[in-house]
Order: sequence, then C-alpha cells, then structure tokens
Amino acid sequence: MAELSAHEIAFVPDLIYVEGQFKSGLALICNPAGQITNVVPVDQLTGQKRVRLANRAVLPGMINAHSHAFQRVLRGRTEYRTADKDSFWTWREMMYLAASRLTPEDIYDASRMAFLEMALGGIAAVGEFHYLHHALDGRHYDDPNLLAKEVIRAAGDVGLRIALLRVAYVRSGFQTEPNPRQARFIERDPETYLKNLDALAGDLNQGTSPTAREGSSKSGTDGALPHGRATDPSAWVGVAPHSVRAVPLDYLKQVIAYANDRDLKIHMHVAEQPAEVSACVEEYGRTPTALLESEGLLSDRFTAVHAIHVTPKAISSFAKTGAIVCACPTTERNLGDGVVPADEYLRNDVAICLGTDSHTQIDLLEDARELEYHLRLQKLERAVVSRNPTIREGAWQRQADRTLPDGRVSDLAALLFGCAATNGARSIGAPGGALEVGKPADFFTIDLNDAAIAGASQDDLLASIVFSASRTAIREVVVGGKPIVSEGQHLIQEEVVERFTDLQRRLWG
Ligand SMILES: [Zn+2]
Repeated sequence: MAELSAHEIAFVPDLIYVEGQFKSGLALICNPAGQITNVVPVDQLTGQKRVRLANRAVLPGMINAHSHAFQRVLRGRTEYRTADKDSFWTWREMMYLAASRLTPEDIYDASRMAFLEMALGGIAAVGEFHYLHHALDGRHYDDPNLLAKEVIRAAGDVGLRIALLRVAYVRSGFQTEPNPRQARFIERDPETYLKNLDALAGDLNQGTSPTAREGSSKSGTDGALPHGRATDPSAWVGVAPHSVRAVPLDYLKQVIAYANDRDLKIHMHVAEQPAEVSACVEEYGRTPTALLESEGLLSDRFTAVHAIHVTPKAISSFAKTGAIVCACPTTERNLGDGVVPADEYLRNDVAICLGTDSHTQIDLLEDARELEYHLRLQKLERAVVSRNPTIREGAWQRQADRTLPDGRVSDLAALLFGCAATNGARSIGAPGGALEVGKPADFFTIDLNDAAIAGASQDDLLASIVFSASRTAIREVVVGGKPIVSEGQHLIQEEVVERFTDLQRRLWG
C-alpha cells in the first residue's frame, strides 16, 4: 500500500504511458511540490485529492529542444520567392529584418505566443537558443541580459520550463564582411560573453526563478557560475556557441571549457547547410564535426542542432562522445535544409531529440513523424528508423507481429516519442521527459474520443498519437503538478493572442 498524504493529488486517467507502454487502472500521485511520488493501482488510493481525467490518456510532457521564440513573428511572411533561387540564406535576411525591429516588450509578446502554442501542443519545457542581446542599434542595454530575461519571463508566465541557451555570436563568417543586421547578436570577446552568462545564472538563482535555487551555491562574489542546479528548476542556463561560422575556434574552446567545468549543456548549430560545411573546410581544413571532435569539444553535454550534412565519420564521432543530435524536421523542410540521417544516427546509437526551431509550425508530434517520413520519401521504404536494434525494451516485445526476422524488435512510435520526450530532457537538462517517481508531474492528456484517435487499441494508441493526432486531441497540460492548459485552452490564451495580434499589425502594417 502506498503511503499517501492528504496534500497529495492523484490524477486518475484511463491510461498512463509508463515504462514504454500504456497501462490502465493506475493513478499518478503528485506531492505539493509538483513531483511524482508514486504511480499506483487506483484501488490503492486512500486520502488524497482525486482528479479524474475521464476518457484521457496521460503522456509525459514533451521537450522542445531547439527554439528561437521571436521567429514566431515571421510565420506566413516568408512564403514567396525573393530571388532567382530562394534558400535558407535569403530566408535568413528576412529573419534578420524582423529581428532588427523588436523591442524588449515585443520580444516578450512574441515569445509568449510561441510558448503558448507549445503548451497547447503538449510541450512542458523548451530549450531557447537565444541570440538577441542588444538594442536595435547594437548598443548594449544596461542589463546585458534584458532580452534573455524577457524570454524567461514569457516562459514563466505561460508555465513552461526553460533552458536559456545563451548564444555566443562573434562574426558573420570566415573572411566575410560584417552584416549590420547581426549587430544585436554580437559579443566580441569570450570574457564579455562569459561575464554576461554568469550574471544571468546568478540572477536566476537569486530569485528570477522561484524553483532554481537549491543545489547551487550563490554566485556573484567570485564571479563564477554556481555548480549544479535545482532538482526541479523552472529556468536555467546553458551555452550556445552559435556555429563554427559565427564563433572562431579560440572563443569556442573557452566557452565550451567553461560549460564543461560547470556541467552546463552545450548547444550548437552544426552542418545545417552545405555552405557552412565548405566554409569550415576552407578555414580549418576539417568539417565542422571533425573540427569539434579533433579539438575535444564533443561530449555527452553537447547537442548538435540539425547535423544534416554529415559524413559517416561524423556520425561515429557523435556516437563515441555521447553527443546528441537535435533534428528540427518541420523547419528543415521549410528552409530546404535537407534530411537528417536519423536512421544512421540511431543505428550508431546516437540519441536524437527534436526542436521546432523557426516555428513555421509548432507541433512536436509532427516533427517526430517527419523524422521518419522524410526518410521514407528519400529511400522509398517504410518504417526506416525502426530497423535500429537498440529498441528492444517494453511491451512490444511480446507482440510477435512486431518482431523482425532476425529476432530484433521494433516499435517506431515509441522510438519517435522518446525523441520528443526523454531525449529532449537529456539534451537541455530538463527534469521531466518521463512519468517516473522523483520526476516532476509534467504531462499532457489525449482525448480518447478525439476523431483522430477514436478506435485505437491500447497497444496501437501511441502510434495513432505519433502518426495521426493533431493538436485538437491534446486537452490538458500540467507542469509541476499545476494545470496550464484545460479543455484545450490555455489559462491566459486570449490575452496572449490579443497582444501578439497587435504586435504583428505594428510590425508588418
Ligand atoms: Zn536554430
């Protein structure tokens, strides 16, 4: 019999996704601090407050590992031809134009809109790759983290956890003229960057984030970032050297050494475009991944965002070092970046997480299915990524029809959902990603009567969700035991949408 306190809440849905399968007849128990204290059969419940979630399946909140929240303002504004050949690079100029017009309050409003849409889509935590640091004219604000704090405030007001992955950005590229539209991003020397990062971490630990306190010593007196962080934080920092194009090697080494010393997560755009790879070869005589590996910069703290244009050697570099790849398929298809070789990564035991990146669409389940679908179109096959032999765990083992001729077992949906949940949590250092004792009660519900889900069996439900559900099926979202979305509506949805609509009118006339 579980020990239950009157202050605990028991969430009682029809099905709970635990240990890689949906189980019925269970309750998820959460303490007043918002942590899962138990998952027990409903008939063992006693004195706690019950929250019945009828006709609902509960899944762990998803983790959006790569976001540029302000880019939400660009949606629908770039879907036309601007040159003989439109590409990532022509899109980037339009993105810079938007970035050069946003005030701190605009950045708050745009971020809140992006985060609200994430919440509605079942996302509980976001890795925000944040590179807007300065005023419109490139002048530094009195507080060098003013804009980062606006983004963190937006996440807090929506109720999402946030890893603020503070970007280091130095130059336009190797032997490339400065681009005045990058003025808001640039911190020319690593000392300035690290000082500002340190200040932000200190401010979070001193009260910007109510839960990011314990587990870290006070910073500020010796200028060092506190080691470690809270076990269940709402906001924390990581480092994000933008790319090998934008950060020269010496600077990059200092930032990564600093992060390694303090156990911070490291995110970096890697091999998104062929031009970035060829410029790196020209400058260093090595591809971006070869450069990172040969300089000892890859580790299990490192997430390579995109990692599309890679060689087999690069894939084994990630495998050897435990680095993670963050795929952003909805953005990559929109920008014409290419296809992440997810099958090769998974075959080599490289973990993949997912991000919505430019926010053309904010739907992490769509990113999960695209990871597979892009490869189907490329290879003219089905169930491409599930050939991986490492996915043996869980309920599907008992299902003979899912056992491959060589005895390996496949469950594509569980693999793809793991990219959106557990792998994302690992990538950004979020405390959730799975419904387990000791983890926060971060979850979303699916309406079992939703038109896209109806008729699914317990065994096929996850595949129905991953391959067929749209956002309308997501009805409740809970972060740290607190509901932020109820019956498909966010608590502050109307105000957020209204403010964002005003912003778009002002920005684009
Ligand atoms: Zn990005």
